[in-house]
Amino acid sequence: MQSRWKDADAARYRAAAGSDPADLDLADRVYTSRLIGGDPDLVLHGGGNTSVKTIRLWPDGSRRPTLHVKGSGWDLATIEGPGLPALDLEALQSARNMPPMSDEEMVAFLRANLLDPTAPNPSLETLLHAFLPAKFVDHSHASAVLALANQPDAAQIGSDIYGKRVAVVDYVMPGYDLSIEAARIFDSSPDCEGLWLVNHGLFTFGDTAEQSYARMIEFATMAERFLEDHKAALDPEPGAEQTPPDAATEFTTSLQEAIAQTHHGWAKVVFDFRTSRLIRAILDQPQNVQALQRGTVTPDHVIRLKPFPLVLQCDATVADIGNALKDFSTRYHQYFEQGASQAAEPKIMLDPLPRLVLVPGLGIFGIGKSAGDAKIVADLAMQMVRVVAAAERYGRFEPLHPLRLFEMEYWSLEQAKLKSG
Ligand SMILES: [Zn+2]
Repeated sequence: MQSRWKDADAARYRAAAGSDPADLDLADRVYTSRLIGGDPDLVLHGGGNTSVKTIRLWPDGSRRPTLHVKGSGWDLATIEGPGLPALDLEALQSARNMPPMSDEEMVAFLRANLLDPTAPNPSLETLLHAFLPAKFVDHSHASAVLALANQPDAAQIGSDIYGKRVAVVDYVMPGYDLSIEAARIFDSSPDCEGLWLVNHGLFTFGDTAEQSYARMIEFATMAERFLEDHKAALDPEPGAEQTPPDAATEFTTSLQEAIAQTHHGWAKVVFDFRTSRLIRAILDQPQNVQALQRGTVTPDHVIRLKPFPLVLQCDATVADIGNALKDFSTRYHQYFEQGASQAAEPKIMLDPLPRLVLVPGLGIFGIGKSAGDAKIVADLAMQMVRVVAAAERYGRFEPLHPLRLFEMEYWSLEQAKLKSG
C-alpha cells in the first residue's frame, strides 16, 4: 500500500490554519484523515475514525486539554475541521473510573462534554480515542487486515505479523465496551504502536499525524505482504466494466419484477450492478460463494449489507427469484428471532429484503431505496468479495457470529445513525 503523504500538501493545510497551535494540530488531523479516507482499501463510506489531542481555549476563558474526534455523518475522505468536534479530554478520561455506561448514556455523556453544543455527535469510538495516550489516533478497516482478522486464529496471526508492535484485542462490541477493553489491553502493552482488532480492523497511533498515518500504511502493507507470502495475495481493485452485458440488463428486469411481487413496499428499489473478469472469477468458485454467506468483513457493514447476501443462478426466472426471496426472508426471520430472543430489550424487525445479490457468471447487485444507498452497498461488496477471496486462499473466512452481527444491525445507536444519514 502506497503512502499518499506529501510534505507540500501537509504544509498547505497548516498554512491555511493560522497560528493557533490547536488549529495547526487540527489541520494536520484533517490532512491525514483525508489521506486515509481517500483510499478504498483503508476505509469506505464513513467507515473508520481519527482524532487528535491538543490544548484549546474554551468559551469560559480556560485553556484545556481537548480531543478532536470524527463526528458522525462525516466521511474521512472529505472531512473538514467542523467534522472533528472538540471535547473536554480530561472529562472523557474520567469516564474510565466511573460506573459502566449504556451506549445511550455514553452518547449523552459525550454531548455534555462538547465545546460547541451544536456540533455533530462525536464518533461512537470517542472514549477509545480519549483513553489512548497518543496525540494522534487513526482507525481503519484495511482490506488486507480484514482478510486476516477474520480467520479462526486471527489473534495469533496479529502477533505473528507485528510481534510486540501491535497489541491484540479480541472482539468486543464497538462503543463503550470496546473503549474499556482496548484501554485495558493498551495498558498491558504501553509500548505498542497499534491495536489489532479481531473481526474488526486496525488502530495506529503516534506523536504526529505523519507518524500515525505512516504506521497505518506500514501495518496494512505488512498484512498485504503476509498474505502474499502465504500465496493468498489480495486481488487488485478491479476496474468496473463500463457496459453491463445484455444478460445483466435482462436479469435486472427479472429481479425488479420478483421484488415488486414479493416485497410490496419495495416496488421502487434501485440496483447498482458491478462486474469484471476478476469478480466473475471469484464468484465462479463455489467455496468463495459459500464463504461470502458467512457474514460481513467488519461489524458495521451489516447495517448496509444485512448479515448475508442472496445468491441466485444467472439463468433464474422471475419465479425462481421470487422463491429465493421468500427463502431469504424466512432465513432473515430466523436470524432475527434468534437475536431478539437473546437481547436485553425488545427489538423491532427491519425489512427482510436482501441488499446484496451475488450472481455467479454475471456479477453482483447492490440494492437500495436510492441510487446512493445501492452504490454504498455495491462499493462495500466489491471490497468484501476481494477480502473473502483472499481470506479463503489463506485459510478460512470466519467472520463474526450471526448473533454478534445481530447486535450491530439492531444496535439502537447504529439505527439512529442510519436514520440521520
Ligand atoms: Zn471500526
